[in-house]
Amino acid sequence: MNFNKLKFGSTIGIIGGGQLGKMMAQSAQKMGFKVIVLDPDKECPCQHVAHQFINAEYDDIDALKQLGEATDVITYEFENISASQLKELVNIYNIPQGYQAIELLQDRLTEKQSLEQAGAHILPYKQLSRVEDLDKAKEQLGYPFMVKTRFGGYDGKGQVLVKGEQDLQEATELIEQQECVAEQFLNLDKEVSLTVTIGNDNQIAYFPLQENEHQNQILFKTVVPARSNKEEEARKEVTKITDHIHFIGTFTVEFFIDKSNKLYVNEIAPRPHNSGHYSIEACDYSQFDTHILAITGQRLPQAINVLKPAVMMNLLGRDLDLLEDEFGNHPEWHTHIYGKTTRKPDRKMGHLTVLTNDVDQAEEELLNYFKGRNN
Ligand code: ADP
Ligand code: MG
Repeated sequence: MNFNKLKFGSTIGIIGGGQLGKMMAQSAQKMGFKVIVLDPDKECPCQHVAHQFINAEYDDIDALKQLGEATDVITYEFENISASQLKELVNIYNIPQGYQAIELLQDRLTEKQSLEQAGAHILPYKQLSRVEDLDKAKEQLGYPFMVKTRFGGYDGKGQVLVKGEQDLQEATELIEQQECVAEQFLNLDKEVSLTVTIGNDNQIAYFPLQENEHQNQILFKTVVPARSNKEEEARKEVTKITDHIHFIGTFTVEFFIDKSNKLYVNEIAPRPHNSGHYSIEACDYSQFDTHILAITGQRLPQAINVLKPAVMMNLLGRDLDLLEDEFGNHPEWHTHIYGKTTRKPDRKMGHLTVLTNDVDQAEEELLNYFKGRNN
């Protein structure tokens, strides 16, 4: 695919003004682009970095068109925008990412079906349109299995782990709220992810395989390079997916690895991803830099080089409470604070990245600081 190459000084419109939008905007500004952000929250992190701010709901089509009129390209920082509205905008404005990836990936069911069609290796799953379908899930998947809402889930929200009969009521309540999918629960050895950027003429840039640890289904830390021999296989899975789904810009594929070192695709985020944040300091291009290069039609770097191994830790509200007095004592912590006005225990408020030649030691030291964390 080929699309417009924008001149520096052009204006980028970002739908969504959270931390991902903010870090995108910062990369864009470094390169001399202007940024206009649309977000319903006047106090969102982007408010303080955008050249212009449109305060509107994500499905306010007039506001979206206002964004299109005022900018040279539109991108988005999250996937839960209306695919049909995006389709309407794609016909009028320059949106190289298109609407297909959003349409397929914002629904866990069509995401799984697309992955299946692409021949990617995924866990057995079952569609749960009605509560009665739980019986089939029980039969075909066996305990334990996960029930996940089709739409709108993030950071483990909209998920129930069904270990046995005792959890069926909670799963039933979730299905009554929204159609779901059930998937086999895997005894995990590791989780890894691969962040990739695709640009004009199918140029492709791979970030190194990232090793992720979650706590309460929220990303806790990322270590790079991953201590795993699955990088090549992960890239092959990504190729199967990109042969099937049209991607432009930065996206991330999350993987599970089981105890026998088998790799499964978990899900895809069609945007920059939390597990790629380390790249801001640890690589010669960040996932936000390559995203901006891609959507503005510039040439992508041929390879992304890791300048130094890194450990990235997320800072939730509870971590800020715990570590408030420590930040100033640790210049080795590259600390990012997103600027969210309301602090909640499980809300992502920032992250920190430590560059190190001894990842194991850095990890151990950091874990000591996070030890008092109340999970
Ligand atoms: P989200 O959209 O919230 O990131 P995920 O499906 O990635 O949803 O689930 C969040 C986390 O929950 C995963 O990264 C993993 O740690 C855990 N998890 C989810 N599904 C499974 C599963 N089938 N088996 C084992 N762990 C799982
Ligand atoms: Mg996930």
